Amino acid sequence: SPIRARVRVWSGMAGGGGGGAVDRFELSPSSVLKLQKGDITVWSVDGSTDAIVNAANELMLGGGGVDGAIHRAAGPELREACRAVPMVRPGVRCPTGEARITPAFRLPVSRVIHTVGPIYDVHPQPKVSLENAYRNSLRLAKENGIQYIAFPAISCGVFRYPYNEASRIAISTIKEFSGDFNEVHFVLFSDDIYQSWLEAARELL
Ligand code: ADP
Repeated sequence: SPIRARVRVWSGMAGGGGGGAVDRFELSPSSVLKLQKGDITVWSVDGSTDAIVNAANELMLGGGGVDGAIHRAAGPELREACRAVPMVRPGVRCPTGEARITPAFRLPVSRVIHTVGPIYDVHPQPKVSLENAYRNSLRLAKENGIQYIAFPAISCGVFRYPYNEASRIAISTIKEFSGDFNEVHFVLFSDDIYQSWLEAARELL
């Protein structure tokens, strides 16, 4: 296996998404991928170069799932910051596959990167859009000096992307940015999705 280092550690506060086991994969000599089960709204590393990614919708004013949880934890200021993001066309602040950045307010991280994944059954090219959602989030993070970033399983909730395909897309897109971040994390809410991400990382890294 090309994996140079894989250890399972117990997360303390730093990089924690609830304090469970963390699986660690090397992306480059200076960059690691970490997988854990947990709640992304409590994840942070240093509060200044860290960001979480929100699986938002195109209007960016909050919704269900992880989006709702992030807005509740960040407080009403996040909704106001999102409202200030210009519309690119009626009802759309962030087109599918793109990303936008805001402060994080009451969350323990410095920034929130909002991206919109494809609705699996509706989108003509869901794979390209899901890759773009990861890629544009990472580009925007890099432009803003982020060194630690945590993703949820974009599109794997109400947008119904099959998680065994989504996990491969997520890991292979993260791999394109090997070396650009100190740490890239996935904080996954359910056991089946976490297991799928673990399989994909063992396969692709
Ligand atoms: P989408 O609309 O992109 O499908 P959802 O929020 O419906 O977004 O689901 C994306 C994933 O986020 C799902 O796997 C869901 O279980 C997960 N999720 C929900 N709440 C949280 C949370 N607090 N932390 C991390 N992941 C979460």
